Amino acid sequence: MFINGQWLKAQSGDTFQSYNPASGEPIGQVPAGKSADAVKAIDAAAEAFLLWSCQTAYQRSHFLYEAHALMMADLERLACIMTEEQGKPIQAARNEVKYGADFLLWYAEEGKRVYGRTIPSARSDQRFLVLRQPVGVVGAITPWNYPISMITRKVAPALAAGCTIVLKPAEATPLCASAVFEIFEKAGFPAGVANLVTALDPGPIGETFLSDFRVRKVTFTGSTTVGKMLAKGAAPQLKRLSLELGGHAPFIVCRDADPLHAAKGLALVKFLNSGQACISPNRIFVHTEILKPFLAELTSRVSGLKAGSGFDAGVRIGPLINERELDKIDRQVQDAVAKGASLVTGGCRLTDGNLGRGFFFAPTILSDVNSDMSIYREETFGPVAPVIPYDNEDDLLAMANDTHYGLASYVYTRDLKKAFRLFEGLQFGIVGINDINPTSAAAPFGGMKESGLGREGASEGIGEYLETKLGGFSI
Ligand code: ADP
Repeated sequence: MFINGQWLKAQSGDTFQSYNPASGEPIGQVPAGKSADAVKAIDAAAEAFLLWSCQTAYQRSHFLYEAHALMMADLERLACIMTEEQGKPIQAARNEVKYGADFLLWYAEEGKRVYGRTIPSARSDQRFLVLRQPVGVVGAITPWNYPISMITRKVAPALAAGCTIVLKPAEATPLCASAVFEIFEKAGFPAGVANLVTALDPGPIGETFLSDFRVRKVTFTGSTTVGKMLAKGAAPQLKRLSLELGGHAPFIVCRDADPLHAAKGLALVKFLNSGQACISPNRIFVHTEILKPFLAELTSRVSGLKAGSGFDAGVRIGPLINERELDKIDRQVQDAVAKGASLVTGGCRLTDGNLGRGFFFAPTILSDVNSDMSIYREETFGPVAPVIPYDNEDDLLAMANDTHYGLASYVYTRDLKKAFRLFEGLQFGIVGINDINPTSAAAPFGGMKESGLGREGASEGIGEYLETKLGGFSI
């Protein structure tokens, strides 16, 4: 753990293992932090806040620029750690490290643009001044599916704003987190500004963040279930929260769309990270008139996807993170097939050769999916594409919005009017129109409804770490 500028063991001396999900083998040990370790990290962050929050934005940016340069210089090593610990193919891991570094650079710049404002008063002897100030110590909890970029997406804006942070990474990917904090150490951030507490049992760390009054903000990326628990736990102190939670993205292919182009887009975005992404398409609505060519193109692309270790050439499908995820996906597929879905390709765990040692699920296409099936409502987080044929475009918005989630959505159409109707009517924080990658450090990412609170990236992202203060001056 990295606390107050030092690498420390847990106070209990306990450790836990990290595993390679492609082989099931242990790959490293890290400290199993408990509540006492979290308190120690909060002590350090609270102390560091006094000085860090008083530095100029230019001084703080200097460290973020440095961290960005170091991360880019170390890209290959970081990508290898990620592929080994999280499983994604090495090229995808490289892309993620680059995306993670983007946040450091973007917020090094945005930190200098935390503008206040003056407001004209109705009284000639009064002046209003609005100041934006860092909220204080931040407690951050990050997931395993994007184990590096989800860290920088929180740390960069928090530090740029003048906050200090204690971060607890997912128990499945602590080595990625340690590697990122080694970069922060090398970048020379003052002691206590960025602290890392690894833990096998996340509950006590989360509770400590919620109950310690010095932590003024909790930022979380993970499941909706845990997000709701944190929201409840934050209520007694009215702690500020940012939550990036689950999704159930509709992927709408309109009648006028090019079915081959849409199928290509779907094959690319659905199987990224083996479907373990909160913005992964989960309900694919395809107009019946173009269903046949769409499915044919999709099937030919998907059945060619090679599964295996992310280090092997040509591999596009890495393992799932653990057996529990594998079982959940298997249950959803079985349930859909039992209720009448047709299995176009895939549909089972992969066990050929060495694959049986890891957690591999075959890239899968289901057609004739309907609303009776659990996959229609539950987040999948796996390489399964559920296709739902439809006839009437007037029903599209109601069908797509019929979910408690509201993170990402996708539309394929060549009709500008339809594009606008759907863009404006979809109740999702992110809408990709003929675009499968509507994400960037410069763009606000986040969900509506039960997909979360707040936004990450862009100027909205730094706003999450700032308080607004009004000054009224009688002169
Ligand atoms: P998933 O099921 O995809 O692992 P989680 O929401 O359980 O999603 O995990 C996301 C992050 O939330 C991880 O860092 C995990 O350790 C953390 N987490 C899980 N349960 C809790 C909890 N009760 N309190 C605080 N953090 C938690």
